[in-house]
Amino acid sequence: MSNIILPLRDEFVLPTNGEVGATEAHGSPCVYLCGNSLGAMSQKSKQLVQEELDVWGTRSVVAHFSHPHGRPWVSYTDNITPLLSEIVGAEEKEVACMSTLTANLHLMMDSFYKPTSERYKILCEAKAFPSDQYAFASQVRARGLDPTRAIIEITPREGEYTLRTEDILDTIEKEGDTIALVLFSGIQYYTGQLFAMEIITRKAKEKGCICGWDLAHAIGNVPLSLHGWDVDFAVWCTYKYLNSGPGGIAGLFVHQKWHEIEKPKFTGWWGHELATRFEMPPTFTPTPGAQGYQQSNPSVIAMAALLGSLQVFKQAGMMGPLRERSLVLTNTLEQHLLRSKYFIPLAGSQEKRGFTIITPSESKERGAQLSLLFLPVGSGLMRKIFDTLVSFGVIGDEREPDVIRLAPIPLYTTLEDCEKAAEFLEKAFEVVT
Ligand SMILES: *Cc1c(COP(=O)(O)O)cnc(C)c1O
Repeated sequence: MSNIILPLRDEFVLPTNGEVGATEAHGSPCVYLCGNSLGAMSQKSKQLVQEELDVWGTRSVVAHFSHPHGRPWVSYTDNITPLLSEIVGAEEKEVACMSTLTANLHLMMDSFYKPTSERYKILCEAKAFPSDQYAFASQVRARGLDPTRAIIEITPREGEYTLRTEDILDTIEKEGDTIALVLFSGIQYYTGQLFAMEIITRKAKEKGCICGWDLAHAIGNVPLSLHGWDVDFAVWCTYKYLNSGPGGIAGLFVHQKWHEIEKPKFTGWWGHELATRFEMPPTFTPTPGAQGYQQSNPSVIAMAALLGSLQVFKQAGMMGPLRERSLVLTNTLEQHLLRSKYFIPLAGSQEKRGFTIITPSESKERGAQLSLLFLPVGSGLMRKIFDTLVSFGVIGDEREPDVIRLAPIPLYTTLEDCEKAAEFLEKAFEVVT
């Protein structure tokens, strides 16, 4: 248990009950279980953002090259890519800190989705995050294809909520010759299911498909090994588990094996090699690797917020120890919830009033999130429970119509938070019933 590091809670600023609109105990910190949607603010982020604001005021444009803290803006990403590449299991040249998630998804699909008359389909999970669904459909249409034919969505079996790895592998086996791109989320945002990324990637490669991942809910949540797994490309945001703040800067991964073959397609000056970027040459020479995909100069304020949090990850020993602590926290929350009088097993009566857990019960098939489905579905119970939880100072994340997601975050959630969340859920049922 020695690796079960204590939470670095003091490194974070968490809202109080009063600040989130709870009705009691205004001064105490709320039970924040929503870091899968928006991570908490680290003290370091606050400090680094403040420093950059001060530098903007005292040095302004000069700070691009001469910076009082040794972080010149022109190469600010150099502070970030070593930490990011460690978190996703990649070489530094394979990682770029840039832009936003959906924009990066489009960029990667523009480069890596190359349908032919035989091989043109995209394989993904049903009910992917809407932005991904819109991106897939629009990329398909942009190539003159019909999304209803070109997009294959895998759905859970009758009566189940999550996908079986065997069903994903079977589909790739059967339809692989017509699939151009296998593109799943690493962790499904709604159910919290962690997909078998290594196995799925291997199968996709075996059938000659390109394999990309949307890591929005996986990065900073579970250990990743993108290079070793031979993933072709990946994209992510950083405001969820990586705590970079609302709308924070995103990132992408392009495997080294592509660097000589696949050059950036929609280019901008920030992807031009640094040595001659400011000579403003008329033709584009890409920075080798993923960083050649950069288009614009990135927001230093956004990067400072991300850097602060990544430094706390480093202090915590990165994903190994954090995953260990995360398993303990999520298992503990689950144990508390399973003891509730209102808990209904997945196979139990769906007509009863209560809740079930649709996230896989196996630790290796989930990250830090449990998705609670309130029953009977469509009864409006979720909304009432959610509002009551907020009034008690428990901040989860509601997904209409019937789900509340609870995410204990190893950097700042305590075992006591897990216990309190379960107790308040019980109380909430009593209040609304
Ligand atoms: C959070 C999330 C997004 C959000 O996209 P933005 O471009 O950052 O607004 C997209 N896809 C998935 C899978 C997500 O979880």
